[in-house]
Amino acid sequence: MSNKIPATLIPGDGIGPEIVEATLAALDALKAPFEWDSQVAGLGGVKSAGDPLPPATLDSIRRTRLALKGPLETPLGGGYRSSNVRLREEFQLFANLRPARTIIPGGRYDNIDLVVVRENLEGLYIGHENYIRIDDDPQAVAMATGINTRQGSRRLIEYAFEHAVATGRKKVTIVHKANILKALTGIFLDTGVKLYEEKYKGRFELETMIVDACAMKLVLNPWQFDVVVTTNLFGDVLSDLVAGLVGGLGMAPGGNIGRDAAIFEAVHGSAPDIAGKGIANPTALLLAAAMMLDHVRRPELATRLRRAIDETLNVDKVRTGDLGGSASTAAFTKALVSRIANA
Ligand code: NAD
Repeated sequence: MSNKIPATLIPGDGIGPEIVEATLAALDALKAPFEWDSQVAGLGGVKSAGDPLPPATLDSIRRTRLALKGPLETPLGGGYRSSNVRLREEFQLFANLRPARTIIPGGRYDNIDLVVVRENLEGLYIGHENYIRIDDDPQAVAMATGINTRQGSRRLIEYAFEHAVATGRKKVTIVHKANILKALTGIFLDTGVKLYEEKYKGRFELETMIVDACAMKLVLNPWQFDVVVTTNLFGDVLSDLVAGLVGGLGMAPGGNIGRDAAIFEAVHGSAPDIAGKGIANPTALLLAAAMMLDHVRRPELATRLRRAIDETLNVDKVRTGDLGGSASTAAFTKALVSRIANA
């Protein structure tokens, strides 16, 4: 019987295929145990299957319950709904895990190591919006409805607490705006505090913080944070903020986690401005692949991959243009693969 772990691979749009190729080269060098089923989505899905999320892609993820995904292009305005949002809904990927760790020292912030856990399915992101006509203005008033449930809050916060325990984190900060959005974010705060008292007291420190204060503190003193857990919209903003602390989106991986499936990706988009030029930085997707190795309980391979990325960037100083270097994607990949092979 094969020891391989079936996994769906979605190369994605724009720079997607370039950074996926780099990531596969690194995973091959590591002898990572994945057996890939390559599928299309996004613009690639529209072009080859007439659908941004073809049934074959969904079937594949249903079977493998695990995917590595390049960025998918979403047209602004009309066109189709974001395939990323549809994937989250389809597989009930309720947690978005966004670690931020300094890899290249000497920037504005050194030694950052924190993780944002964002609720991925509820809140103001559900897209229930409408306009109200007044007199001859059909869009005189705009309305949006946010929904947070006790059950949805609990499963997300429980995931964050379990992650904190499993990874030896010392503190979890629940971020909310319950002073103003008393019901919508009050339910999240209340559920988290009760869950802590019920099951987690003493296993780590719990702190609660209003989102605006949290944004300021993250900029002034990010080292005071360890795990930040928050609702969908606040998590969207804060997780990009923490990516900025460690060098921007080019260094930021993300995991979308549900009970039945998990999808790992780079946080950045398809970068159409540099697609096809061979200069994209594959680091974010490589770090996402390391998260995926942790997820399938191969932490030793994840650690080797992260170490090789560190050494390529900091010892060999092979860096792509967005990091101030001059290496092509292929040159960076070659250096990384030789680091992995010689480790
Ligand atoms: P983007 O992240 O694609 O690009 C922003 C800037 O960062 C660009 O200048 C780009 O060249 C640069 N950049 C991004 N990734 C890089 C990398 N790996 N190496 C070097 N430079 C990099 O954001 P955008 O331009 O707003 O979005 C483009 C498309 O991507 C849109 O269709 C959007 O919907 C989609 N998108 C997809 C995802 C996803 O699939 N998870 C996430 C965000 C955006």
